[in-house]
Amino acid sequence: MKARKVPLRKCVACQEMMPKKELIRVVRTPQSDVLIDLTGKKSGRGAYLCGKVSCFRLAKKAKSLDRALKAAVGDDIYDRLEQDFIRVEDEFHASKDRMDEDDEE
Ligand SMILES: [Zn+2]
Repeated sequence: MKARKVPLRKCVACQEMMPKKELIRVVRTPQSDVLIDLTGKKSGRGAYLCGKVSCFRLAKKAKSLDRALKAAVGDDIYDRLEQDFIRVEDEFHASKDRMDEDDEE
């Protein structure tokens, strides 16, 4: 039987509850790297953000990732993540569309 319930996660920036696939996951790996995880499968503590750079900037300003990941995230890391975020945004939305197709069996 297929589960119909859509898993919801909260964006750490705007606090909105969204279906998991609408959000970009940021993960703090066991090696203490903080990076964007488009697969959603990397191990470590995760935080979710809407797939919008505006939300990332909000998180950066409020240091939301520090709280969500329970770690100090340096400005240089936020800057690097912001660049990554901009770079993956298109890929993220493209893969989301593919996922939508997969849902319609
Ligand atoms: Zn958001």
